[in-house]
Amino acid sequence: MLRIYCRDHHGSAGRNASRLCAECADRFEYARKRLAGCPYGPDKPTCANCQIHCYGPSQREATRVMMRYAGPRMIGRHPLLAIAHVLDGRRPAPPKPRAVPHGPQAADDSPVAL
Ligand SMILES: [Zn+2]
Repeated sequence: MLRIYCRDHHGSAGRNASRLCAECADRFEYARKRLAGCPYGPDKPTCANCQIHCYGPSQREATRVMMRYAGPRMIGRHPLLAIAHVLDGRRPAPPKPRAVPHGPQAADDSPVAL
């Protein structure tokens, strides 16, 4: 989606359509890192539906604008992906996963071993 946005707003498609401009490449890298640290893992809800707002306010706004622009254009390029994403957005977000315990400590609710 960033690629669609970048192509139309920053004119990066010309010589090499697969390249993002520096600004969008930064944004992509930021998103990738956030995603890698997402505690939901593969169960991640769509970002609009997520209870954890892991983006900073400026990144969040920029991403929202980018998605609003590229979203409808996804239908033409990746129809199945776009539809799957819309359906995904209707799924309620799962509850926040519990914090991962630090270090090798026993779970509180485990029966006491004798
Ligand atoms: Zn760009």
